[in-house]
Amino acid sequence: MFDIGSDERFERLADLILEWNEKINVTAIRDRGEFMQKNVQDSLAPLGLPEFDCAKTALDLGTGGGFPGLPLAIACPDKDFFLVDSIAKKLKVVADAAEKLGLSNVQVLHSRAEDLAMAPKKGEVPKLPGRESLDCVVSRAVANMSTLSEYCLPLVRTGGHFIAFKTENAMEEIEAASHAIELLGGGELRIEKAGSEDGHILVIVKKLRQTPLKYPRRKGLPASEPLK
Ligand code: SAH
Repeated sequence: MFDIGSDERFERLADLILEWNEKINVTAIRDRGEFMQKNVQDSLAPLGLPEFDCAKTALDLGTGGGFPGLPLAIACPDKDFFLVDSIAKKLKVVADAAEKLGLSNVQVLHSRAEDLAMAPKKGEVPKLPGRESLDCVVSRAVANMSTLSEYCLPLVRTGGHFIAFKTENAMEEIEAASHAIELLGGGELRIEKAGSEDGHILVIVKKLRQTPLKYPRRKGLPASEPLK
């Protein structure tokens, strides 16, 4: 397991987020020890996975108060991170923390997943971050596996990976999403124990082929009518 004592910025991150949390609710965890375990250590679970380690560009979809994106950006200075959320006030906190920690490898982006993954119009140059552009997309505590796959897989380039933070309780939901994952161009699903917390797992999905242009469907639909 990654040693969070090895870099004082993990403690500084806790100071910054917990201080902001007095004003704006960005995390339900207020106890410092619990914060280090459940927000910082848990976020670092993908370290050591070849699918994560080989990525040069990574996106955290629904980063909220910056998890798992900020701890991963501290641990991986050589990767470029895009931290995305649809709620601007949470991103203010994330941007402030990234700046105070000197994380020049972090960009925060206010967008819904469905908008970010929209296909470029005719003649438009593909963007980073945008559709089919990322080596790796990670996401924790955002949506069920089917909805989350429709948010994340369109953003991953062919050959890249989508890594979902889940718990063992979600096994049924993960199995139920296998057809949706296939429709979205993903496959070769693999599950790894996360190690930092009992029952926490990482679901690793490979992007095998481009996502058909009809996905993601329009705003709200991936959540209200998950693909089956
Ligand atoms: N990943 C963080 C926050 C989880 S809360 C953590 O583990 O602590 C879920 C977050 O996902 C919220 O901040 C919410 O605004 C964001 N979210 C939900 N649906 C989204 C969408 N379609 N596009 C972008 N962000 C979304």
